[in-house]
Amino acid sequence: MSVIPSEARNLVIIGSGPAGFTAAIYAARANLKPLLFEGLAKGGQPGGQLMLTTEVENYPGFPHGIMGPELMELFRKQAARFGTELLQQDVANVDFSKRPFKIVSEGKEFLAKSVIIATGASANWLGIPSEKALQGYGVSACATCDGFFFKGKEVMVVGGGDSAVEEATFLTKFATKVTIVHRREALRASKIMQDRAFANKNIDFIWDSTIHEIKDPAQKKVTGVILKNLKTGALTEKKTGGVFMAIGHTPNSELFKNQIEVDVKGYIKVRAGSTATNVPGVFACGDVQDYKYRQAVTAAGTGCMAALDAEKFLEERESA
Ligand code: NAP
Repeated sequence: MSVIPSEARNLVIIGSGPAGFTAAIYAARANLKPLLFEGLAKGGQPGGQLMLTTEVENYPGFPHGIMGPELMELFRKQAARFGTELLQQDVANVDFSKRPFKIVSEGKEFLAKSVIIATGASANWLGIPSEKALQGYGVSACATCDGFFFKGKEVMVVGGGDSAVEEATFLTKFATKVTIVHRREALRASKIMQDRAFANKNIDFIWDSTIHEIKDPAQKKVTGVILKNLKTGALTEKKTGGVFMAIGHTPNSELFKNQIEVDVKGYIKVRAGSTATNVPGVFACGDVQDYKYRQAVTAAGTGCMAALDAEKFLEERESA
């Protein structure tokens, strides 16, 4: 068995969303002195997807709601309070082929006896300028998070998969009308979800179309969209009070793909009921390993699991 040099850290955590910071809080309180790479904006989204939302009303413990960035600042402070070392740097590459694991950042090599990956997933966006300007002001990629704010309004959902149909159905609880805008003339969603959506009188469909532009960044709110029919090229304007993107997510796992097992969509595979990857000593938590729940609270929950799994792994190695 390879000898671990004394400079190897107990635990390196990569990622600074609810999963990474929760892992850090638990690991720091267990005296593991974790080092956490927060990342830089160019590599992802430090603080995770909550940095892109406005008010969060479903995170337990905040009965009056809290702004997403403020919640992440609290997570960060709590992690730091117990001695987590925070580095605002991106990880450039990793080597998990042998222990201690190697993590390279800004030309420096860090050694770690265990690693927790918490790099999250990023919602896919259309890539139009108005969408970016209105994120958090009527444009969202999470109906569960933001649907409540659209009570009594008409909204649009872009996409044709299970997420689009699920989010549209969910949004009918709040919105008076939900229009699904899909780029083809058939949904990709499962049959049962499609049937449910077609039967819902509050859901309408616009086929073969995409959103060309969202209005109105100047007013800092969504007032309507310009739709483009992809078959005819025709542009039409429609009023709406909100736009939800449901065109898929991309897990931020590129860095690890040749090192650990990922599924066909790039989500890191973990053992059922655990955060263990196929590499002993490397754990994954949060959205990078979860395409299903994708909530801040579930990410935090798996972050806690990862810290406990890493702690147990280190204990077993030390007593071996
Ligand atoms: P998805 O199945 O990949 O669907 C993405 C949708 O967005 C597709 O309809 C796609 O159109 C459209 N799209 C992609 N890029 C676009 C673009 N640039 N402009 C316009 N439209 C675009 O993603 P998902 O719906 O998030 O689902 C991901 C996975 O989670 C799936 O395996 C799904 O079954 C699963 N899921 C399951 C449930 C459930 O069972 N309750 C709920 C949610 C998600 P095309 O159809 O033309 O490709």
